[in-house]
Amino acid sequence: MASKNVLLIFKSNIMYKPVIYRLARDFDLVFNILEAKILPRREGRILLELRGSEDVIEKGIRFLEDNRVLVELLADKVWREEEKCVHCGACTGLCPTRALSIERPEMKVSFDVEKCVACGMCGLVCPFGAMKDVTLFDPFAEGRHT
Ligand code: SF4
Ligand code: SF4
Repeated sequence: MASKNVLLIFKSNIMYKPVIYRLARDFDLVFNILEAKILPRREGRILLELRGSEDVIEKGIRFLEDNRVLVELLADKVWREEEKCVHCGACTGLCPTRALSIERPEMKVSFDVEKCVACGMCGLVCPFGAMKDVTLFDPFAEGRHT
């Protein structure tokens, strides 16, 4: 089963349409709301983990876009500059989703971008500036993605 973390942006004219409910009902996708922010009559932003087969996730994303929901893949927004990472492990204890974790016995820090929810913690703690955009990209900042 695949999983993708997506940011959904609902403009005020579609904010109260039951599209997430239909994702589960019509596409048999499992979803997990990671975070949500609603600005009444203005905009709604939801960080969602979608789980299902790759093609069903793609169909679900197309369905959302057809219903005028802006969909952004978090994996497109954050990355690690591999040459800067010294695998010190400082980020791994703070990462809430275990997107950053220590691989044993190699003691290398791996980064699974699909698990990242762009919380920014690793960007704040990394002494070498290896984690990119995690501190700049605030999925809940208004106006960044429009
Ligand atoms: S804190 Fe920075 S240098 Fe250390 S493992 Fe994490 S990304 Fe790599
Ligand atoms: S931004 Fe960094 S700390 Fe937060 S989930 Fe992603 S990898 Fe983990």
